[in-house]
Amino acid sequence: MKFYYSLYELMPKKLGPKDQTPVARKGALLKIEWSDGKIGYADLHPWVEFGDLDLEQHLSELRHMRLTPLVEQAIWLASIDAKARKEKVNLYDNQLVLKNNGLLMKLKQASVEVLDPYVDAGFSKLKIKVGLDSIHEIEIINRAALTHNLKLRLDFNNRLTWSSFEKYINALTPQAKRQIEYFEDPFPYDANMWKEARQIIPLAIDWELKKIPIDQKDSIEADVLIIKPTHDDVNARVEQCVRWEKKMTITSHMGHPLGVMQCAYVAQDLAKRFPKMMLDPGCLTFDVFEPNEFSNLLNFQGPFIKKVGGWGIGFDFILKSQKWNLLKAQ
Ligand code: MG
Repeated sequence: MKFYYSLYELMPKKLGPKDQTPVARKGALLKIEWSDGKIGYADLHPWVEFGDLDLEQHLSELRHMRLTPLVEQAIWLASIDAKARKEKVNLYDNQLVLKNNGLLMKLKQASVEVLDPYVDAGFSKLKIKVGLDSIHEIEIINRAALTHNLKLRLDFNNRLTWSSFEKYINALTPQAKRQIEYFEDPFPYDANMWKEARQIIPLAIDWELKKIPIDQKDSIEADVLIIKPTHDDVNARVEQCVRWEKKMTITSHMGHPLGVMQCAYVAQDLAKRFPKMMLDPGCLTFDVFEPNEFSNLLNFQGPFIKKVGGWGIGFDFILKSQKWNLLKAQ
């Protein structure tokens, strides 16, 4: 097996005119060549702020043939890509076209009209990053329940405490609560706290799932597991989800467009195999970054992600034109 890498940077879009210029996010595309000549690609895009090792550490472990969980997932996704490339099929052919949730990075200083474009574009679910300015957010969410037909996924990234959670819930109107599909990572995972909270509102576990071993047999106190195929052992989590009778949402890792397309492919594949278990995915995260030569080739329409030309996951010509560095020959 040979590993090649090509470093890249993604520039986050500014969320508001007063925001500081964002810092570029670093990642690497991997090109993996198997001994039988198959070649597949994947994205390595760690989120250090959510506990991932940084990019250099992943690469240096790989140089010694030690596989970090992210690299293991990259190899898995690249193997799916490689098989399709060899068979000369595009992974998006004959797949379900799924409706993704929209993504709103913050509600700060926004009015309820900020939701109009999502409804107009055909979205029925919207994920909002919240817990930054609770009073204002609650006002908009309460308003939206009367004016916009959108189910909301509220992602707190652990910003709440039990007391601020109670305040948040108590300030939401009954209509608003009915519009909320789930609260995502309201506070760090704690079985007792989550058990109590999910009696009030459904809970989804995202980055906090890292605390739950993939071989754990006992169920957890969450209603929905959020799985990023670039980060999580998808097959092991699917098994847990079936055993625990939970729902699953596949989301992207907010990384390189190639990796995001692979996450969306996994969502399509699982929706065919586990139609009752899979909720609408959240892989439409391309807009978070300034466009680049890969995102210019994307093909999405409202909530739907469509195929990019080429074999496997697509992007054939542009992948060939990247500068590839050999990492380690085995
Ligand atoms: Mg999240």
